[in-house]
Amino acid sequence: MSSRKTVTILGATGSVGQSTLDLILRNPDLYAVEALTAHSDIEGLAKAAMASSAKCAVVADAGRYQDLKQILAGTGIEVGAGEAAVAEAAGRGADWTMAAIVGCAGLVPVMAALRGGKTLALANKEALVSAGCLMIDAAKHAGATLLPVDSEHNAIFQCLDRSAPKGVRRIVLTASGGPFRTTPLDEMARATPAQAIAHPNWSMGAKISVDSATMMNKGLELIEARHLFSVPSEQLDVVIHPQSIIHSMVEYVDGSVLAQLGPADMRVPIAHTLAWPARMETPCDPLDLPTIGNLEFSAPDLQRFPALVLAREAMVAGGAAPAILNGANEAAVASFLTGQISFGDIANVVARVLERYVPAEPASLEDVLAVDSESRRHALEVMESVIA
Ligand code: NAD
Ligand code: MG
Repeated sequence: MSSRKTVTILGATGSVGQSTLDLILRNPDLYAVEALTAHSDIEGLAKAAMASSAKCAVVADAGRYQDLKQILAGTGIEVGAGEAAVAEAAGRGADWTMAAIVGCAGLVPVMAALRGGKTLALANKEALVSAGCLMIDAAKHAGATLLPVDSEHNAIFQCLDRSAPKGVRRIVLTASGGPFRTTPLDEMARATPAQAIAHPNWSMGAKISVDSATMMNKGLELIEARHLFSVPSEQLDVVIHPQSIIHSMVEYVDGSVLAQLGPADMRVPIAHTLAWPARMETPCDPLDLPTIGNLEFSAPDLQRFPALVLAREAMVAGGAAPAILNGANEAAVASFLTGQISFGDIANVVARVLERYVPAEPASLEDVLAVDSESRRHALEVMESVIA
């Protein structure tokens, strides 16, 4: 039993967290759970901790500490609460840590895990978008392994020939185009949160679902790819592929294009990182290509998806721009989900914040966190003027 790989899930109650737990629970002789964390869903957290016999369960919302303690009383599971306790849980030295917190809120725990020098499976793209250089440096310094969980980046990771980096001509990220790919533009601008969250192919948390509908998600993923694979911006492209069967591609200078295909189930890329460098089985149905029949491709409509343009501009600008973009987007999406701004306003808010807020290049984790919170503050100001 002592040879089991120890694993920690940051954001265990979310969509990616639950898919990760599913794979771990199917293989109890291979994995031992060190720590699980959640924001405030203590029932979901306690259930996951008991099912997996986790050593420790931590809730970020300190106000839920006593309730969590009560539910887990007598189980022997250690209980923690508060943001610092989440970061401590991340730093407990598990062999493999899943970063599945949504948003820049995951950045401090991600850095704590990287500093431990073990393996970090990264779903939490907002952390990398906001602090890419710091994260990559921290991983190098500590000798940590960073494995991409985002389906596109996991696909690229699998297709990339590391022995011939100069042979890569282009990396092409596929995008489904989300629920509004063909919706009339005026209707799209007035879309409700329920419509925006109804992704045609993937079942995901609310924030990333909205990001997929605006295609900000693909923009964040361009920046994510730039850091993960250290390729220049001009070698990164996006193609619309509504079936979500090809998860991304690497094009080589000789004209070869390598693609990874698979079902639209996050357990596939999660399993790839969990078993890496080996492979493990998943319960997902194999791809049935004759039934799928056709794979379609088109160029993204940049008028329909201005967020994609903003993200590319932020990627090219570098410095603080990606952190500003991400912070403003998180604030705008949160306001859209609570009905305070329209769907069409999300990209406008991000554009306005990028125009008016020009800080110095962040050099430390503290700098990035300051840019993130200032960007949100600017976004709130912009939104007040939108609402007024
Ligand atoms: P989700 O909303 O379903 O879950 C988020 C998790 O983070 C929950 O466990 C929640 O309790 C926790 N959390 C939220 N705010 C927190 C805070 N302030 N402090 C600590 N914990 C907090 O989100 P998700 O869809 O699972 O996505 C998680 C991350 O993975 C996101 O960055 C997303 O972009 C990325 N991702 C998700 C998918 C997917 O299929 N869902 C695919 C690719 C990448
Ligand atoms: Mg993705």
